[in-house]
Amino acid sequence: GTRARLTASGCRVGHDRARHPVTLWRVAPARTYRRGMRISDVVRHKGGDVITVRTDASVTELLSLLSEHRIGAVVVSDDGETVHGIVSERDIVRHLHTDGAALLDAPVHQIMTSEVHTCVPEDSLDDLESAMTEKRFRHVPVLSDGKLVAIVSIGDVVKNRIGDLQAERDQLRTYIQS
Ligand code: AMP
Repeated sequence: GTRARLTASGCRVGHDRARHPVTLWRVAPARTYRRGMRISDVVRHKGGDVITVRTDASVTELLSLLSEHRIGAVVVSDDGETVHGIVSERDIVRHLHTDGAALLDAPVHQIMTSEVHTCVPEDSLDDLESAMTEKRFRHVPVLSDGKLVAIVSIGDVVKNRIGDLQAERDQLRTYIQS
């Protein structure tokens, strides 16, 4: 049969149009199950556990939390609900480089990012993914009525994206075989 290949722009070339007048990808269903996916769908799946640290905790205490829970960022909150900031391993690395070992005794609020990008459960996952890519952070706290209820990491987003691609692949395979 005729070999077909996809060019960078997505056109099908080398396709035998006489024998296969309609190319596969034009008639393949365009929908993916991701459409309309919201933060609440992700949270329902992964749960609402969020590790927080108090503003006056030391960087050493922060290190324990990151290591113990195998996570990359902690929400800074004194009451476990109000978000004062966020601090990630990246902040520790950056400040260790500039401040040296004295950093270990410094309070977390000295190295946290206090302008936190947050989201609400009703937000779309696609928008969150764009924001994370654009602004280069890998963690976004989820607030409901202004209170911390969950956190979404880039890992959660990627997991969903992979699920999507698999669903789409299965859909296409079914289509090809029918
Ligand atoms: P991350 O990619 O999450 O390790 O974070 C990289 C940098 O962005 C660090 O300086 C964090 O303090 C900061 N950061 C992480 N998450 C957020 C967020 N949701 N809003 C604002 N800054 C953030």
